[in-house]
Amino acid sequence: MSTATPQKFEFQAEIKQLLDIVIHSLYTEKEIFVRELVSNASDALEKLRHLQLTEKEIADDTLQLEINVTTDDKAKTITIQDFGIGMTRDELVKNLGTIAHSGSKAFLKALGEGGAKNTNLIGQFGVGFYSAFMVAKSVKVYSHSWQKAEASHVWTSDGSGSYEIEEAEGQQRGAKIVIELKDDCSDYAQDWKIKEILERYSAFVSFPITLNGKRINTVQALWLRNKNEVKEEEYTEFYKFQAHAFDEPRLRLHFSADAPLSINALLFVPKENTEKLGLARLEPSVSLYCRKVLIDAKPKDLLPEWLRFLKGVVDSEDLPLNISRETMQDKALIEKLNKVITKRFLKFLEEEAKNRPEGYDEFYKEFGHFVKEGAALDFTHKEQLTKLLRFESSRTEKGKTTSLADYVSRLGADQKEIYYLVGPNRASIESGPYLEGFKARNLEVLFCFEAVDEYVMNNVREFDGKKLTAADHADVKLSDLPKPEGALSDDDVKTITTWIKDTLGDRVAEVKASERLVDSPVLALNADKMMSPHMRRMMKAMNKEGADNPLRVNLEINPRHAVIKRLFELHASNADRAKLVAEQLLDNALISAGLLDDATTMVARLNKLLETA
Ligand code: ADP
Ligand code: MG
Repeated sequence: MSTATPQKFEFQAEIKQLLDIVIHSLYTEKEIFVRELVSNASDALEKLRHLQLTEKEIADDTLQLEINVTTDDKAKTITIQDFGIGMTRDELVKNLGTIAHSGSKAFLKALGEGGAKNTNLIGQFGVGFYSAFMVAKSVKVYSHSWQKAEASHVWTSDGSGSYEIEEAEGQQRGAKIVIELKDDCSDYAQDWKIKEILERYSAFVSFPITLNGKRINTVQALWLRNKNEVKEEEYTEFYKFQAHAFDEPRLRLHFSADAPLSINALLFVPKENTEKLGLARLEPSVSLYCRKVLIDAKPKDLLPEWLRFLKGVVDSEDLPLNISRETMQDKALIEKLNKVITKRFLKFLEEEAKNRPEGYDEFYKEFGHFVKEGAALDFTHKEQLTKLLRFESSRTEKGKTTSLADYVSRLGADQKEIYYLVGPNRASIESGPYLEGFKARNLEVLFCFEAVDEYVMNNVREFDGKKLTAADHADVKLSDLPKPEGALSDDDVKTITTWIKDTLGDRVAEVKASERLVDSPVLALNADKMMSPHMRRMMKAMNKEGADNPLRVNLEINPRHAVIKRLFELHASNADRAKLVAEQLLDNALISAGLLDDATTMVARLNKLLETA
């Protein structure tokens, strides 16, 4: 049927309902109408490209497959034209007047499920074509179908319940959508404004987009290309463009998967960890695309928290062409994506660690913090993450690291635990009193240099059936070593430990001879199971309650050490001086443990000792 005079139609009831919500909502991100219309244009071009493979007779077959956007800030209009498949008169009625298509359907369904008050739903689902009415006084759709014999028409509506269709001579193939903007939306007739929006949402649409004659999208959707065909410089350029970065990427993972979901992903680890530099906490910034159109630049749940340092793109084409991209907001789907991508990235890190250990170490130096965070908090991936942890140890050179698996491979048959020590740096751990007992027994100890390590080790708890154990903990039992010559006798040890306990009073919980000490005279062990020295320091730094509770430690003495032997003699001959020495030994032990809170009394005492020296 063809008519020369305009014919009036009522929108289907559901569309009326939809339009009512769209027009009256206070939804702030009105700009998504640009994304929706450009996506429709791109879909129409894509369909035409398919038709070109099978159809010989296509209207205006020489037209470029492109999208042209023009703005007119005097007339307050924005026009989006494509040379895609276009619509016949019947298709205009069916596609724009009824709720046959999925995006809007899903939207209405969500509304029915109690989301009526949630205007955000528009942003989540995109209401496709109808989003134009958020900003439009009127919308005109000029169209000529790809089928040569069909006439051209213009579809017109102000969104208030009805639309008109009329013949319109001289249209090119495709659709031209002219929006006359509402007065308070006239910004969308500004070139700069639309440029910004197009660059944000539609930068990777595969058909050329021009705005007022200027090309907008120049960077390709690299993630969809075969990785053997992409050059190194292209990746770097893409990274800088997509992540708004100035550095070069440190690591890159480009992969695709077909099952259980179709995924094309291109992920980058930046050169620098800006969180480490003390800048703000990173926001998740791997963007989610569906068929090259941005769905969400910073999707919260696409990746676990600890992967917030990653940049790049995840695109899922899993949905059949006729299902709209809005269903991508589906929570279950995001969860599935999360699972697949996280697993794949962990595998990638494992391979890097194996095949390029130096590069991995560099990565770990910069981003190890996130691996630790994951190992401590992400229960689902804990096992894989624990394997990726690295430590210096009493067996590595300074600056070189080992993994827990390597540690375990060096274990003696009867060692059931993995020992570690936390300290500010290697030198302080090596010169402290805690390590020597382990060294003397040839037991490897991992070194941890960061305050958070203790928390991480506590949460990780064990590896390969071996418990992670703090080497400075009072519970650690070490095997007997042969007694060296010249040590105090058991009786003398008993005498001196009792005397020290009496002399130091409440400052110590227990005094006993040590199995661990070799070169140092004394050692303080944490008697408080709930609060380790490092925890205590951290709480102090944060001004937390409990940090000021009186400190009680177990003091262990080395009956082989000259200072202790001298103290034994002194306590009989000059009890006053011996007391000063005992107090000083305790403070020395506390300093090594990082537990001495106030050194002023110590300085006074030292001066006294020096006087009599
Ligand atoms: P969806 O894109 O999810 O199908 P929309 O509301 O965005 O829903 O569009 C409705 C329908 O209108 C589309 O499915 C398509 O058939 C038709 N349509 C919209 N824009 C165009 C266009 N530029 N060219 C051809 N057909 C279009
Ligand atoms: Mg659409």
